[in-house]
Amino acid sequence: PPALEAEKRRVLKTAFGFDEFRPGQERVIDALLAGRDVLAVMPTGAGKSLCYQVPALVKGGLAVVVSPLIALMDDQVAGLRLDGVCAEAIHSAKSRDENVASWRRVASGEAKIVYMAPERLMTDRMLGALGRLPVSLVAIDEAHCISQWGHSFRAEYLTLGRLREALPEARLVALTATADDGTRADILDKLFAGRAESFVAGFDRPNIAISVAEKRDVGTAIERYVTSRPGLSGVVYRLSRKKVEETAARLRDAGVNALAYHAGMEASERSAAQEAFLAEPGVVMVATVAFGMGIDKSDVRYVVHGDIPGSLEAYYQEIGRAGRDGAPAEALMFYGLEDVRTRRRFIDEQDSDDERKRVEARRLDALVGFCETTSCRRQTLLAYFGETTGPCGNCDTCLDPPDVIDGAREARLLLGL
Ligand code: ADP
Ligand code: MG
Ligand code: ZN
Repeated sequence: PPALEAEKRRVLKTAFGFDEFRPGQERVIDALLAGRDVLAVMPTGAGKSLCYQVPALVKGGLAVVVSPLIALMDDQVAGLRLDGVCAEAIHSAKSRDENVASWRRVASGEAKIVYMAPERLMTDRMLGALGRLPVSLVAIDEAHCISQWGHSFRAEYLTLGRLREALPEARLVALTATADDGTRADILDKLFAGRAESFVAGFDRPNIAISVAEKRDVGTAIERYVTSRPGLSGVVYRLSRKKVEETAARLRDAGVNALAYHAGMEASERSAAQEAFLAEPGVVMVATVAFGMGIDKSDVRYVVHGDIPGSLEAYYQEIGRAGRDGAPAEALMFYGLEDVRTRRRFIDEQDSDDERKRVEARRLDALVGFCETTSCRRQTLLAYFGETTGPCGNCDTCLDPPDVIDGAREARLLLGL
């Protein structure tokens, strides 16, 4: 629902000061907000904490977080308090009085998030007390500790298997960076009795073939691309509403089942288009960035950017809508210097402070760097998110290495930027 959508972004901004979700975060948050249990496997540094902190604040009620280490709990609580969120930790390194004071703030509803070690949480008394509070979410951080497969097994984590029954009204989310199959299966089995949505969100999506093409007569190029992939579901992003309408009309003239989606359309038209895209095979959605949030369609075979996106974060999120079923999918971006100038103008002309403009200019530079790179695109993209990998073998620069010096392009770059 749009209200939750807006609320989750508002919380991200006001409570945490971030403008965009990191790759993977939204899927977890959306599933939790939709009332499903989730096992999320995401790399270290991916931002797993926000995956439960944001829904905790959006849902209201109390969120209970299980964490294996006192130091981790204290860090998280300190961080949340800096962000103005009332959070507590109850653990054995604090005095009885301190724990009692914390519990009072939990019981009174003042605290929104409480951290506990598993042995604290899984006593009949604690579960009974929590059962009388509006617990909306229980998050198990470092959930691999429940698995005897790994090196970090903790016997106390095994008791968490009773949680699902003990707090049946609460959604349950387990988070870990340990992705191997044995551990994952173990967590699913022990915590969820097999019934949870399982997301593995390494930043890498190796099934998406990434390429960037020079932008010249993009209308024709898009038409060729789409018509040569008949019957496949795809998304074509355009920057403006006008371009969306034009591109969709042109594709329809070419016999493609293309729909338009942008914020200028009536809400009812937009949801009709969205439903058709989800329900019918082979629909091509031509859209502005307004389209895609919270859309979970597994068999989108390609995402085309007719104009450059605003940042690599946005790009990653948008291409990530392709190939969620793991089958081969494609991401193609048309890149031209005119687009870069347009984006720069957006940044210069926007009504915000200089720091903000500098941040956005740096983001745009990173995107341009990605478009201009002569080494592996995926490597460049993942490096931006802090992940180090080798050449992927599934991008244009890997499959068809560019001539290293392109004099004309260099000259344009020098003169144009
Ligand atoms: P993990 O538990 O996955 O290792 P954390 O939750 O500790 O990662 O987050 C790692 C860092 O990323 C933190 O400094 C956090 O503030 C930051 N972070 C998380 N989400 C975002 C976001 N959407 N935008 C910017 N920074 C983020
Ligand atoms: Mg963490
Ligand atoms: Zn590559």
